[in-house]
Amino acid sequence: MSVLVPPLSTAAPDDRRAAEVALLEVRDLQVRFRRHGRVAHVVNGLDFSVSRGRTLAIIGESGSGKTVSCRAIMGLLPGFASVAGSVMFAGEQLLGLPEHEIRRYRGADIAMVFQDPARSLNPTMQVGKQIMEAIREHLPLSSALARQRAVELLELVRIPSPARRFHEYPHQLSGGMRQRVMIAIALACHPKLLIADEATTALDVTTQAQIMELLLDLQRALDMALIFISHDLGLAASYSDEVIVMYAGRAVERAPTRRLFEHVRMPYTKALLEAIPRLDRPAHLQLPVVPGRPPDPSSLGSGCSFGPRCPRVADICWDSAPALTEHDSEHWWACFRPYGSGAR
Ligand code: SF4
Repeated sequence: MSVLVPPLSTAAPDDRRAAEVALLEVRDLQVRFRRHGRVAHVVNGLDFSVSRGRTLAIIGESGSGKTVSCRAIMGLLPGFASVAGSVMFAGEQLLGLPEHEIRRYRGADIAMVFQDPARSLNPTMQVGKQIMEAIREHLPLSSALARQRAVELLELVRIPSPARRFHEYPHQLSGGMRQRVMIAIALACHPKLLIADEATTALDVTTQAQIMELLLDLQRALDMALIFISHDLGLAASYSDEVIVMYAGRAVERAPTRRLFEHVRMPYTKALLEAIPRLDRPAHLQLPVVPGRPPDPSSLGSGCSFGPRCPRVADICWDSAPALTEHDSEHWWACFRPYGSGAR
């Protein structure tokens, strides 16, 4: 008998309606880092929600605040960080919970997959044992049942010959296989929410696509909410229901995926879009990059933080920061001179 409890979704219509209620609701999330007498404003009033069965992509360059936001949700920030706002998960406020309380959620209800499995896995321990450890941290299973579940999880993440692979060490597996093991560990207790933080960044393009397909298949089969964090807008186009683009700790554009790609408004989003490699781009042309660097979060000015890099910047942009506002149905952006507005 399988000990991998979750069946494929057989939800009745009422259950499906209930599933549309947000599982995770983040409101006005603020994160500050206080170090060496300086205060870095790393996340500045982020709002979003995600429901079971849905995939949210959070996109931005390194330092935009996307990873810090998700670590704040998981209670995984260092001691010099302070967090404010609201993080409701399945109706419970997570912010402010003591460490032993948040540990109840971490790994059990909310799990995270990181970029570098080589650093996350213990090189001296068989991968199957590492999955068993994750299972037994939260579930009162006997060693034999935990072992059976670990093998089933290896099978679930499509590792061939799972019973044999159980005994292998991380260095015996390819990068893609190691990431599958990390996903198996994340799924050990059947989380309701899975956060994948640049989980495919270190992989080649083919393996990247396989891991993303796997994550989506698992998300559907296990009825999880999935948040994936990436710098790659192309991944968001292929694998998400909704996209949030972050810059300097704020959401600057947010929309259902298709709508965002058909009607990009924010100059920053457009710049990210143009930086995606395309097969039809002549080989001799250099891939465009977003010029300049993101601002220092400890000295953000009063105007639009993208101003120094923006091709559409105008006087109005220096006076105050544009607020993220819903302009079209479900399409939000924070810009005084968006594309499509007639402003040149
Ligand atoms: S508000 Fe101005 S500077 Fe900021 S993104 Fe829009 S046009 Fe560019």
